[in-house]
Amino acid sequence: MSYAQFRHYLDPNFWVRELCGYLHHLLLNMSNLSVAPNHVVSIAYTLSLPNGEVADFADADQPLVFIHGIGQTLEAFDAQLNGLNVGDGFSFSLTAEEGYGMHDAGWVIELPRSVFGGDDIPADILQLGAMLPMQDQDGNPMDGKVIEIGDETVKMDFNHPLAGEALSFTGSVLAVREATAEELDHGHVHGEGGHHHDH
Ligand SMILES: [Zn+2]
Repeated sequence: MSYAQFRHYLDPNFWVRELCGYLHHLLLNMSNLSVAPNHVVSIAYTLSLPNGEVADFADADQPLVFIHGIGQTLEAFDAQLNGLNVGDGFSFSLTAEEGYGMHDAGWVIELPRSVFGGDDIPADILQLGAMLPMQDQDGNPMDGKVIEIGDETVKMDFNHPLAGEALSFTGSVLAVREATAEELDHGHVHGEGGHHHDH
């Protein structure tokens, strides 16, 4: 050991730095928060339908990051995750009623074909199976799926695409932290995995 190295080890600042770094490392890796309302939760998950189709997923590289318990996600989904710790896995199913509701025939609507082809809705996007951004009579945005194209009319389904489906979720909790006051105010996550905006 050279004298310089020897001096280095004697330097109290060296040990303070080492200790601080170690504690910081411990804190980062020892989030003892459980999933609870108003916490920002990161999960990896797969959503499967009863026919085995994967309807949605997020992996650990690009997890789903959301504020628990504020209606960003399904209430029954939040309830299933409540109390889990970082590292815990989960596997549960929601009924269609707990999910996106039953398919409602009242939301299948026949529109005059003349609705399409104007400035708002160009004719070329009118295709079977297409999801089209529409509005109700009050101007509220609604997505509708084209399910039948007739000579005079177009039949559209305004139910949620997953209406009537039981939903199976498997995954794991990757991180939990408290939401900031600003995030709760905005109703969405800021920073990693969340909104990036200047306000
Ligand atoms: Zn915001």
